[in-house]
Amino acid sequence: MAIGVLQSTSRKVSIIGAGFVGTSIAYALMLKECADTIVLIDRNREKADAEVFDIKHGMSFVKNINISAGQFSDIADSDLIVVTCGRNRRANETRLDMVADNLAIAETVACEINKHYNKGLVLIVSNPVDIFTYKMTELLSIPKEMVFGSGCILDVSRFSSVLAGYLHVNPACINAGIIGEHGDSQVVLWSKTTVDGRPAEEYCAKIGLPLSAAEKRRIEQQLIDMGTDIIKGKGRTHYGIATCVCHLADMILNGQTVIACVSSVLDGEYGLNDIAISLPCKINRYGVAKLSEENLYIDEFEKLCLSANKIKGVLEHITKREIKELDLSVSR
Ligand code: NAD
Repeated sequence: MAIGVLQSTSRKVSIIGAGFVGTSIAYALMLKECADTIVLIDRNREKADAEVFDIKHGMSFVKNINISAGQFSDIADSDLIVVTCGRNRRANETRLDMVADNLAIAETVACEINKHYNKGLVLIVSNPVDIFTYKMTELLSIPKEMVFGSGCILDVSRFSSVLAGYLHVNPACINAGIIGEHGDSQVVLWSKTTVDGRPAEEYCAKIGLPLSAAEKRRIEQQLIDMGTDIIKGKGRTHYGIATCVCHLADMILNGQTVIACVSSVLDGEYGLNDIAISLPCKINRYGVAKLSEENLYIDEFEKLCLSANKIKGVLEHITKREIKELDLSVSR
């Protein structure tokens, strides 16, 4: 959802990590013509150069934009810095090994951003996105409202498509929210889900389709399993998240304010502190602000607290450097 229009000037995006996710985002931005300058930064410069050439070779059919491979100093003057570096889980290791490695990467990247940052929003996509967002917010010497994670934006998009499939409507008819962890403990806000502007339960009753508690649980589980199912089939996910990030970037760079369920450090919302998880937020080029608290169903609030406790437990163990003893599930 986009509201309001802000004066926009430059449209420069730096993407850190030229892997599947980073390059899919660059490609989507190029096709949608929503940035003027894109810089791809990767520790493997040869790969970043090759990705840029490949993307450039279709540019005669779209608006000519300035896309290049660069180094960390090139993030200066960016309106949006997207962090996608990190790696996916290998077959022979636990997800915790990925948490440790990706947090080491977060420290390196935050140090580099601090050296060269002079403006712009920092959007974290690397997993585990809520943990990564919390640590990056802590490590970056920039105002915390300028840092956020993609959080549940992908889950909301997946949910709209699953529910739309069930109801045989266009996903655009569905307005939904998912809060908490980008992962197994995410909380679908059925209380806020509307179809064609009507509450989902009312819409289903009208067309005679059941939306019982069991049906809701089935849809929620299908949603949680989606990332894993895609990874089973192709080893990774990247197009879905790239489209979501491209939508956010389009709104931010082109002077709009967008409302989305993204991850940011909480400041007492719903009584929760010292974690980053998704809540509905207002985002524009000047920063990220949480919307005022909503009246949730009791079970939604209880699930949100469980999700927050899960993330808090991981952060506490990371602080104590005990992460190898935990069992964290990370969705992609
Ligand atoms: P990938 O392995 O294809 O690419 C990662 C890239 O990061 C590599 O090119 C690597 O060279 C680079 N890199 C690593 N450390 C770096 C550093 N210190 N500086 C610069 N570059 C560095 O992985 P991918 O498939 O692109 O996934 C990237 C991340 O995105 C993973 O953490 C993945 O789990 C996450 N992801 C998140 C979502 C989401 O919804 N938030 C969805 C899909 C994937």
